[in-house]
Amino acid sequence: MRRIAILGSTGSVGTQTIDLITRAGAGSEGADFHVTALTGAQNIALLAQQARALRPDIVVTSDPSRLGDLQDALAGSGLAVAAGADAIREAASRPADIAVNAIVGAAGLVPGLTALEAGATLALANKESLVAAGPLMMRRMHETGGQILPVDSEHSAIYQALTGEDIAAVDRIILTASGGALRDWPLERLQTATVAEAMAHPNWAMGQRITIDSASMFNKALEVIEAREFFGVSPAQIEVIIHRESIIHSMVGFHDGAIMAHLGSPDMRHAIGYALNWPKRAPLPVARLDLAKTARLSFEAPDEARFPALRLAREVMAAGGLSGAVFNAAKEIALDHFIAGSIGFMQMAQLVEATLDRLSSDSGLHNDAATLEDVLAMDHLARVRATELAVGLASGLAG
Ligand code: NDP
Ligand code: MG
Repeated sequence: MRRIAILGSTGSVGTQTIDLITRAGAGSEGADFHVTALTGAQNIALLAQQARALRPDIVVTSDPSRLGDLQDALAGSGLAVAAGADAIREAASRPADIAVNAIVGAAGLVPGLTALEAGATLALANKESLVAAGPLMMRRMHETGGQILPVDSEHSAIYQALTGEDIAAVDRIILTASGGALRDWPLERLQTATVAEAMAHPNWAMGQRITIDSASMFNKALEVIEAREFFGVSPAQIEVIIHRESIIHSMVGFHDGAIMAHLGSPDMRHAIGYALNWPKRAPLPVARLDLAKTARLSFEAPDEARFPALRLAREVMAAGGLSGAVFNAAKEIALDHFIAGSIGFMQMAQLVEATLDRLSSDSGLHNDAATLEDVLAMDHLARVRATELAVGLASGLAG
């Protein structure tokens, strides 16, 4: 029997995780999985429904103002409920074999780290924690003898391509990118892109934030940094290629010229299922590829003028220290402002770049041995600066 905590269970990755463990019998007598914790935020109805089906030891919403709603929704169930960031941390600290971190944003950092420190294998969808605190996460993994398994589809593909290989034999890591909803738009039109337009992803059904990040290529920018932190390769070894079909989930090139690729349908359950069953492989309910029908796989170089996020990721890796924490936090604020309609689509990158510039001389930035407190302090400072800068950009927009 495997004990599993699902952090962010009500989101896109969370619900797909529940789909897989439910198919494996979770929630029924004698099942292979026992759910220790389910956590969500605003979607109380879904969280309660999941809890009634899976009967976890604890159910948590991150929002203290929703505790009453959660209690009402679970009245008579006998299930333990709690609310707030500390309650999520406590839930993540409970003994588990696997913790799936499917929380969106830097809010996932502390819960994921806590689960890792408590000895769970961390199935990590929350790429933001590696971007903001990669060295800290990897240090903790090595110190505790624990395990992090990537759930981002590209990183899962790379992990699988590297199985049994020596990382020293790797020449390059090639991250594939669909290019997102606006991949063919000219630069002038991108300035006026709306949230609805950025949400129309051609291949993947995902949460709102990552879908917009895909359209701006901020998602790929985060993934480049994630790959550098997780696999420990140099920035120069990481390439991005636009691959419209999202059939190749990523590739690894070796010194002998061989390239290993992971192919599959664009279905996150490939990556989630791999992490849940690792080191074994179990049958998964994903569509099998019909290669004759697929017919064509295309590749194009990304355009860094239309998608400046990729250039910013390179600058962040070159700067090192806590630049990743600034980059992620500023990106989250920029996305909030874009969703709220106060800044334009291309202004997201302007805002992130301006925040990085503003903090480039901060004494706390150049810290290669950052503690959790250092990361959280820099995350906070970057949010304050980005919010100030966003007001300036928004008034420029209004004027
Ligand atoms: P969603 O927005 O669909 O879900 C996010 C989850 O986090 C929900 O359970 C949400 O609760 C919860 N949540 C939101 N805010 C907080 C908070 N402050 N504290 C704690 N929990 C919170 O996101 P996705 O599932 O799309 O993405 C999750 C993570 O996985 C992200 O890091 C993303 O980059 C990564 N990822 C996602 C992929 C995908 O296909 N969706 C692919 C690869 C990576 P509620 O909904 O109840 O408000
Ligand atoms: Mg991805």
